Amino acid sequence: MGDNGGMLALVRLRRGVVGESRRVCHLIPVPAGPVSGHLTALCGEAIFPAEAEVLDGLRGMPCHACLMESTPAGSNVLANAG
Ligand SMILES: [Zn+2]
Repeated sequence: MGDNGGMLALVRLRRGVVGESRRVCHLIPVPAGPVSGHLTALCGEAIFPAEAEVLDGLRGMPCHACLMESTPAGSNVLANAG
């Protein structure tokens, strides 16, 4: 599904596009070619490039659903907090 090696971009909707509570950092698979229309975050949110800013690092609140989607399958990669 548009996989180009797993490159992800951190994107946040611009101020004013949505309420502050929805301005979370989404993870978006970087498209291999030109962007037409909108991009789709891992969580399924449609992101229009004109309404979003690309971040160079994690800022603010991450999108929980995107984080869950980006966690590799299987639990071996996560430290056991117990
Ligand atoms: Zn998201």
